[in-house]
Amino acid sequence: MKIVGSDPAEVERALLAGEVACPGCGVGLRPWGSARWRVVRGSGVVERRRPRRGRCSGCEATHVLISDDCLVRRRDLVEVIGAALVAKAAGIGHRRAAIAAGVPASTARGWFRRFAVNAEAVRVWFTVLAHDLDPMLAPLGPTATTLGDAVEAVAVAARAASLRLAPVAPWRFASAASRGCLLSNPGWPWAVGG
Ligand SMILES: [Zn+2]
Repeated sequence: MKIVGSDPAEVERALLAGEVACPGCGVGLRPWGSARWRVVRGSGVVERRRPRRGRCSGCEATHVLISDDCLVRRRDLVEVIGAALVAKAAGIGHRRAAIAAGVPASTARGWFRRFAVNAEAVRVWFTVLAHDLDPMLAPLGPTATTLGDAVEAVAVAARAASLRLAPVAPWRFASAASRGCLLSNPGWPWAVGG
């Protein structure tokens, strides 16, 4: 898996130009057909997509190119999952968060459990990133929970990226910066899917 931008025309251009780096070795990927159709769910929308696949001209590995509005192995858009995580961090229960996200309660509970396992690693990763992006940034204060601290670190890093680089939607930024592995199992962020 390789996380790319969500403009298919730009992805195609970058792929043809050899600008999409192999996550394994860094050499440029070349177009290599398409992956299977997949269903992507947004708020009130269900969309079928067929992601592009690239093959590395260095190590010959193939990688599915996943748009940064998604996470690896999750059907729901990252902004939907992110909004639920923000709600959870604010103390809202998983049932209410699930209703707001338009997903079954078990799905939201699954997100929260997985994110809670990764929370400390996510907090550290995004805190370091935030300070890299903005060296003048004040230290991040703790929130009420580890999950809340991780959500806060993502938000602060996304804000720093928006100010330093270009305006970016916080959870798309989180997907790109975690290589889509925000909710991956096990060992985020090192278990980067191939
Ligand atoms: Zn490679």
